[in-house]
Amino acid sequence: MDCCAHEGPGGGDARFDIKKVADGVYAAVASPAYKVNCNTAIIENADGVMIVDTHSKPSAAQVIIERLREMTKKPVRYVVNTHFHWDHWHGNEAYPAAYPDAEIVSNNVTREAMLKKGLKRIQDHVRQVPGEIAKLKADIQASSPAQRGKLETDLRLAESYLAEVRALKPALPTIAFEKTMKLYRRDREIQLLHLGRAHTEGDVFVYLPKEKVVITGDAMIGWTPYMGDGYPEDWAGTLDNLAQLDFTHIIMGHGDVTGREWLNTFRSYVHDMVEAVRHEAATGATLDEVKQRVTAKLAPRYEKPFSAYGEYRPWRTGLAANIERTFGMVS
Ligand SMILES: [Zn+2]
Repeated sequence: MDCCAHEGPGGGDARFDIKKVADGVYAAVASPAYKVNCNTAIIENADGVMIVDTHSKPSAAQVIIERLREMTKKPVRYVVNTHFHWDHWHGNEAYPAAYPDAEIVSNNVTREAMLKKGLKRIQDHVRQVPGEIAKLKADIQASSPAQRGKLETDLRLAESYLAEVRALKPALPTIAFEKTMKLYRRDREIQLLHLGRAHTEGDVFVYLPKEKVVITGDAMIGWTPYMGDGYPEDWAGTLDNLAQLDFTHIIMGHGDVTGREWLNTFRSYVHDMVEAVRHEAATGATLDEVKQRVTAKLAPRYEKPFSAYGEYRPWRTGLAANIERTFGMVS
């Protein structure tokens, strides 16, 4: 079973390709969506299933639950959140609703971040999406027939997202660990690790030493990383810690399943971007000058590999945001 795109209930935009990565280990790779969904890792153990990350809304998690029921009769016992961003935990509530004994697991730093920042951001969404809907309606009025279909679909998706986010019952982790948590199942070992700051202060990595698989959350993705809550100066070092582990397959927060080659490219991008910004900032250049110079410097090596998802997540836009975040931290 390599590719079974599946549509969300009510014709939603949550679609996943379920890919086998090792025996009992699957990646549900999310397709681009109006409200971005993260990937989920599915780890089937002798006594139950572990899920890693739950997307931007409960209905998206529900798509995974329906797929899971076709795959196994075993219940979900653990749901791991890799970090506090909305598109990785807003679907949490679907699991305890479907599997009453399911525990939600993350580290203390991530649980705290959900409480202190995540809950507030849910209210931000409730306030902001109506404006997004109003804009889509205005855009539809002004649109050409060629543009209209997509805008109308987006409008429908924005309206159903607003209804979901308003009704959200945020399900916080029921188990929080400090640095490391290890689960010894009859048939496999699962390590939940904190390797340093990167995409957030609390990034959790899930490592299966026997199967040589690692699940990274957004500390690694298939396009330009989002650094808005991140630590650019720590990031490459955290990925160096990751590289110390023995694995062959990487299930990232977004984008297709990958391997060590992409870890090298991704790590180099983060490192080179930070060094270039530091260098330019030290010359007294303005933010605009730094953006221009660093982009020119990095484009020959990184524009192509980081453009695999094209217009969905353009590299230059992501890079400009990365430069801005880093500039603010080094200058
Ligand atoms: Zn994230």
